[in-house]
Amino acid sequence: MKKLNGIAASEGIAVAKIYKLKQEKLDVKKIKVLDYNGEIEKLNNALDQAQIQINDLKTKALKKLGQEKAEIFDAHLQILKDPELKNQILDKIKSEKINASFAFDFVAKNFQEIFLQMDDPYMKERASDVKDVSYRVLSILLGKKIKDLSLINNEVIILAHDLTPSQTSQLNAKFVKGFVTEIGGKTSHSAIMARTLQIPAIVGVGNKIFDLDDDKEILIDGKTGILIINPDKETKNLYKKQAERDLLLKQEELTFKQKISQSKDGWKTKIAANIGSPEDLNGYHKFGAEGIGLFRSEFLYMESDHWPTEEEQFLAYKKVLEEVKPNFTIIRTLDIGGDKTLKYYQFPKEMNPFLGYRAIRVQLDQKKLLITQIRALLRASYYGNLGINIPMIATINEFKEVKSIIKKVENDLIKEGKKIGQYKLGIMVEIPSAVILAEKFAKYVDYFSIGTNDLIQYTFAVDRMSKSVSYLYQPFNPAILESIKKVIDSSHKYGKWTAICGEMASEEKLAPLFVGMGLDEFSMSATAVLKIRRIISKIDKKDAEKLIEKVLNFETAEQVEDLLTKYLQKILN
Ligand code: PEP
Ligand code: MG
Repeated sequence: MKKLNGIAASEGIAVAKIYKLKQEKLDVKKIKVLDYNGEIEKLNNALDQAQIQINDLKTKALKKLGQEKAEIFDAHLQILKDPELKNQILDKIKSEKINASFAFDFVAKNFQEIFLQMDDPYMKERASDVKDVSYRVLSILLGKKIKDLSLINNEVIILAHDLTPSQTSQLNAKFVKGFVTEIGGKTSHSAIMARTLQIPAIVGVGNKIFDLDDDKEILIDGKTGILIINPDKETKNLYKKQAERDLLLKQEELTFKQKISQSKDGWKTKIAANIGSPEDLNGYHKFGAEGIGLFRSEFLYMESDHWPTEEEQFLAYKKVLEEVKPNFTIIRTLDIGGDKTLKYYQFPKEMNPFLGYRAIRVQLDQKKLLITQIRALLRASYYGNLGINIPMIATINEFKEVKSIIKKVENDLIKEGKKIGQYKLGIMVEIPSAVILAEKFAKYVDYFSIGTNDLIQYTFAVDRMSKSVSYLYQPFNPAILESIKKVIDSSHKYGKWTAICGEMASEEKLAPLFVGMGLDEFSMSATAVLKIRRIISKIDKKDAEKLIEKVLNFETAEQVEDLLTKYLQKILN
């Protein structure tokens, strides 16, 4: 039995056949023909078939994903019916007496090029739609089958280079038992989505996954990151037993749903949920979270085909605030750039996108985007308890500038007679300069929310998507733990509070340490809330406080993890 190792991205065990999501390269050759009418007929048939396929996809998308996401297929249908495109192909077939697939490929590529040359980012983006449609038509012309995720109707584990957030959100957990990707890390967005959807996943396995054949059965353990090829009966049984034990634990955890989050000796904290859209509130309710600690508003932007209007944003924020009230909802302003792109906006090409035009930097440059979002947020604040989180703050001046824009928007709204409520204003602490300046920031902010995913990335200069340097992605390193302590202490010194909304908040071994540090809020995928609440209930805060000095005196992540593993074993037994 061969094994592969990857990064454990989403817990759970799955056994199923492989479904490889690798787009085959289509080999299009120019062939001279005697009878071009035959080629024209082939072209018409292929266009008709493509139309049937796209209509089918659209119906499915409408049912499962709603109107907005289904609209992409309307754009595809329009391209298919474009008379200009078709006439050029027909001309080429007739005048050169050549095969339909070559003529189609040639003209479609020209069309793509024309769109790519356009200045309007929305039109530029249409090039990728033309590419998609051409791939479909060419596949039909060449007799190749395309794999569409939404059409999967038998149990499989998907193997892919990576999955985009929208692809991941299309997965039907009934049939897609898990997924494995070539690239990515624990905090890449496909991994985060897998945890939200509760699909076992392993990421960053490398390109070896593409050596595996489609029909092979594999077993994946999303807790350890192990992939077993053709598991034998004994192995399957072993994992089945493990899955049963996991189920018992889950049942025990469920008894914590109605409880508050407190340590064994009665110290209280809060465990909130991270969400990406109003639909994710299901998890918030299901797992008894005590608020929304991070609403990643960028998903509204990424799922749209235009900049979301003030009204569209207002309705989404209002829905969440109303539903979560009286608990607190922290909504993060647009964090786009890095690995997150938009269909309708062309980001500048940069050597290091994660260090470049991203998050608040974009909105301070294009203030209209910030103002529209703040207007929507402040109007929604009337309907619940809002915290506004500003991502990627590096300097005090940036924060002051944002704060003064928010004040101005607030005054404008009041003048317009709009209803607005109370709100809190905090920053994401995810850049080391913000840690170093934490005491200074603490005077101005209402709270801190530590984005450990990026804080680790920027502290160790390790790309969070990179497999080759993933060994440097070290949540247990004293460098990060000392940073977190500094931020918590600074906030408390000024009567403010601190949350952690990065993935470290749901790492069970770290929970005792954060309890010891007096972390005010843990925010995580809703599916992890009960696991952490149960662990916190077994921790004695006074005892946990003693851990801090020991841990911060260590030199390496391994030493820290070793001590924390033993500590967890001790309190759970
Ligand atoms: C983080 O950086 O820890 C965080 C919560 O934000 P994101 O993962 O969306 O960058
Ligand atoms: Mg971040």
